[in-house]
This record gives sequence, structure tokens and C-alpha cells, in this order.
Amino acid sequence: MILRALGLRERGPEVISCPTCGRCQIDLVNLVEEVERGIAGVDDAVKVAVMGCVVNGPGEARDADLGIAGGKGSGVLFRSGEIVRKVKEGELAQTLIREVRRMTE
Ligand code: SF4
Repeated sequence: MILRALGLRERGPEVISCPTCGRCQIDLVNLVEEVERGIAGVDDAVKVAVMGCVVNGPGEARDADLGIAGGKGSGVLFRSGEIVRKVKEGELAQTLIREVRRMTE
């Protein structure tokens, strides 16, 4: 992770998440953990953003290869800076994992 932060390593997924705050509307910690577990075996470099709200989340989610901005009971999925669709909260982790695998295979 240190090597990646310094731009010296370009391998495997990089998961970015927000620190959460009062605006967070999803169970972000568990969501991030599930996503990290689900993409742990991916070798290709891919930047994934998991953000807690639709106020500041979309900016970071658009900058990543794949991203989610959480909303009330749902989230918006972004791919390469574009909105793909709205996803129910219970399906966010598996949707993101599937998209990462699709993008890197
Ligand atoms: S992305 Fe939203 S929920 Fe996360 S820290 Fe920023 S404002 Fe708070």
C-alpha cells in the first residue's frame, strides 16, 4: 500500500473510502470490508471508491475506475466517471465486486 501510494507499484485493486460523517447513509464499514474481501484476488490495477453519501461521494466515485456513492437504502454505481445505475444497498457490495471482476478479466 505504501509503494502504491508513492506510485511505485501498479498492481491489484486500490480501495478508497470516505472516513464517514453525519451525512453517511449506508453501512460503509461493512460494505468496504465485503468489497475488499471480494476483490482480494484481483491482480490488475483498478481504483475503486466506496463513498458514504451523494453530497461529496460522487466526485471521488467519478475519479475512480469504479465507484459507489451511497444514498438512503441504495447507492449510485459509477464506471469510468459515468453513472451506470442505482443499486439497492443490500446489492452494492456484490455489484461492485462483479463490476471489478468484469473490468479486470
Ligand atoms: S463522502 Fe459523504 S459521508 Fe463520506 S465523509 Fe464525505 S460527506 Fe461524509
